[in-house]
Amino acid sequence: MKFGGTSMAGSERIRSVAARVKREVAAGNQVAVVVSAMAGETDRLVGFCREASPLYDPREYDVVVAAGEQVTSGLLAIALQAIGVPARSWLGWQLPIHTDDAHAKARIGEIDTGALDASLAAGEVAVIPGFQGVTDDGRITTLGRGGSDTSAVAMAAAMKADRCDIYTDVDGVYTTDPRIVPRARKLAKVTYEEMLELASVGAKVLQTRSVGLAMKKNVRVQVLSSFTGEDAPMADTLPGTMIVGEEEITDVERQLITGIAHDKNEAKITLTAVPDKPGAVASVFEPLAAANINVDMIIQNIAHQSAGSASATDVTFTVPAADLARSIEALNQARGAIGFADLVHDTRVAKVSVVGVGMRSHAGVASTMFTTLGARGINIQAISTSEIKVSVLIHEDETELAVRVLHTAYGLDAEEAA
Ligand code: ASP
Ligand code: MG
Repeated sequence: MKFGGTSMAGSERIRSVAARVKREVAAGNQVAVVVSAMAGETDRLVGFCREASPLYDPREYDVVVAAGEQVTSGLLAIALQAIGVPARSWLGWQLPIHTDDAHAKARIGEIDTGALDASLAAGEVAVIPGFQGVTDDGRITTLGRGGSDTSAVAMAAAMKADRCDIYTDVDGVYTTDPRIVPRARKLAKVTYEEMLELASVGAKVLQTRSVGLAMKKNVRVQVLSSFTGEDAPMADTLPGTMIVGEEEITDVERQLITGIAHDKNEAKITLTAVPDKPGAVASVFEPLAAANINVDMIIQNIAHQSAGSASATDVTFTVPAADLARSIEALNQARGAIGFADLVHDTRVAKVSVVGVGMRSHAGVASTMFTTLGARGINIQAISTSEIKVSVLIHEDETELAVRVLHTAYGLDAEEAA
């Protein structure tokens, strides 16, 4: 069981988490619990580091920010003991959870579960702080923001758990954002690959890295709500959304499109009149790669030739909006080498994506998307696809409309509004 920051925010909520854990134990399960820091706590601790010095040592930053989870794991163990459930906490360095030494964004390697297995077998609940680990030379690490999801999946894999239940403030994964489309439906199952695409295009239920790890290690992950009363259905009845391998989805369950995501955090850049010759595109993206900027959608327009001059082409692509300024700087510095005429940029864009493994075997998904948007007068500025995803870039103001009409067009609307 993994509980996020909102579920751990305060004594009252920690008590209700403890009650939830007790129910699972009473149902005959061996339980390890991974917890986040109280909501807002990690931000607060990060703030202290910045105040201490803007150029803080990442090794000491990890010592500070890992503390939030240390507090909640101890508190949950106390709350469990108070209701008669034997429990103890296991800090990252105590298990240990080995990581590399990339402080503030460490990756988990080996996890020793010997002591943990023995404690579970003896009837104890293990409470494990998420987000933290330890390097080979004994220094505390953290896994990057949102990393408790990854801790939970890694623990589940190491312990060969039957399931990793992620309790959060939503009760599952939806066909799209229910705040935009009230008739969005909760999905009973979604594949790892779909969840990865949905997570990377803006459906922020789980840390993307945790989904990749679950896929690699074949961990069955369930996303479910922590905000339900005593009469809530037991987790074993799978009330949330199961994230599973494709082979676990039957033909009857398989939909053409599983979900629609949107992302307003991209910016569009167009370089005009880039020389149409081998190596030109490389000269555009090399400086961005060197600056560690992730380019997402790319289109190169057809070459146009004006009388007497060499042919040239426009290159349009998107970068994270947060990296726009650095991108512009890197491109302007490389302007001589690239040889473009103008650099035009726009942050008033949004990426809308339809995702589904069903499109592997069905034609016409992209065409339905383009026709539907066209009929509403929504202009498409860029397109990218993968085997299970079609994304379009549109004007930011049209995001909600686009998501709504696509949800209907692919037959995803529930009968009754949720
Ligand atoms: N507390 C950490 C964070 O806020 C890790 C987590 O909650 O997943 O990023
Ligand atoms: Mg989280």
